[in-house]
Amino acid sequence: MKLEPVIGLEIHVQLKTKSKMFCACANDFDLTEPNKNICPICTGHPGVLPVANKQAIVLGVKAALALNLKINEYSKFDRKSYFYPDLPKGYQISQYDKPLAENGYLEILLPDGEKIFGIERLHLEEDAAKNFHHDDCTLIDFNRAGTPLVEIVTKPDFKSPQEAKIFLQELRMIMRLLNISDADMEKGQLRCDANISLRPLGDKKLYPKTEIKNLNSFRAVEYALAYEIKRQTKLWETNQVPDNQETRGWNEQQGITVEQRTKEEASDYRYFPEPDLPPIAITLEEINFIKKQIPELPNQKRQRLINEYGFKLSEVNILLNIPGFDSYAEKVYSEFLAWLESGDEIEGTAAEIQAEYKNKIAKLVSSWLLNNLLQLMNKSGKSVTDLKITPENMAEFLRLIFNRRVNSTSAQVILEKMFNTGGDPSNIMDELDLQQTTGSDIDQIVKEVISENKSQVEQYKQGKVVVLKFLIGAVMKKSKGKADPKAVEEMLIKLLN
Ligand code: ZN
Ligand code: MN
Repeated sequence: MKLEPVIGLEIHVQLKTKSKMFCACANDFDLTEPNKNICPICTGHPGVLPVANKQAIVLGVKAALALNLKINEYSKFDRKSYFYPDLPKGYQISQYDKPLAENGYLEILLPDGEKIFGIERLHLEEDAAKNFHHDDCTLIDFNRAGTPLVEIVTKPDFKSPQEAKIFLQELRMIMRLLNISDADMEKGQLRCDANISLRPLGDKKLYPKTEIKNLNSFRAVEYALAYEIKRQTKLWETNQVPDNQETRGWNEQQGITVEQRTKEEASDYRYFPEPDLPPIAITLEEINFIKKQIPELPNQKRQRLINEYGFKLSEVNILLNIPGFDSYAEKVYSEFLAWLESGDEIEGTAAEIQAEYKNKIAKLVSSWLLNNLLQLMNKSGKSVTDLKITPENMAEFLRLIFNRRVNSTSAQVILEKMFNTGGDPSNIMDELDLQQTTGSDIDQIVKEVISENKSQVEQYKQGKVVVLKFLIGAVMKKSKGKADPKAVEEMLIKLLN
């Protein structure tokens, strides 16, 4: 029997607001001194009144729109009751049957095509305090209590641990892009529980799921799900198909999930409407106002960079994963086109040149940015904002290569100097005398090499083609590396035949 995994995610994202969800305390969860950032509201004193944070609602709407969710014009808060030391009121203010938004999806271009992952809902709620367990006691820090959260619940649409991880990474990218959250998993700003069950391939039924808690890195999400697939496959193979929902925790050190408890039913939480907060009413006008603030999202950008510039998906993903690198590359590209358009080497408008040389330009831009420049950045630990090379200079540099005024060995020397000094590529080329030797100069050198290597020339003429490499090398050496190897090869072949 072939089994397939059915995976869904529940994600909590801390919102980057000025103040907490229902009180005026600063929303500053980097505080190191415990219980400093608290007030009677977020510590649940009797008789206090919560007031909903407008900025949190706006950020929630923004997140929902980016995930193509339908905003409910009317939503409300509910109390979710459970008893735990980090929850001072004995209930969490959340949203139950009328969440902020419902029914959305996220589309992501993957190597094997466009994938659409459904999203069930997004609601607002408050974070709990934090327990610190010691040997003989547990201490509680309430600084985090009342931090605004959105909870995002996906549909069980993921078919592999990798897909779940990619979704989470995309979500992080969007949260950061829209400045909704820093969404750092290590800091707990993005937290994820994963639900997984197996079913026979082709079966449409959903079997009781296992919820994995405590996944605090992308790696953990991927590894824990992979582990569960193996564990549950064994259960299926030995006729012990799980017939109850279960909660398990991920043990990072041992690389296993461990049983925690059987899952509460919704009724255990005794949800009921929060009487101290009015419903949230959002007009279409307000929704449209927020919608206008949403910039191009990663997947739109992905598709545009592929279609417009001819980059590969893998290249675009690298650009998107390095802050600012995608827009740097776009600037370089358009400056480069402008150089080609204004120069007299190629006829035509920028659009015509782009159409004719699309692949060549894409290859040139991507290889020099993603291989050579990125390598220098990684080696020196520099980010895009630290770059001394302006997009204009980078474009001018690419033009020198495009026009074969420097060969790639010299180009690397120029790039390194530009990287360190921010200098102008043409100046550096002149200064270091790296201009590619062309025309009659190479002609001369090639002829010299032919007459100086009579036996190799003879071997070549008798059909030993590899000797050509030796002769090209000799010319390159004589030209002090400044000849264009391709031109040398062509000339050698012409003269030897
Ligand atoms: Zn407070
Ligand atoms: Mn929640």
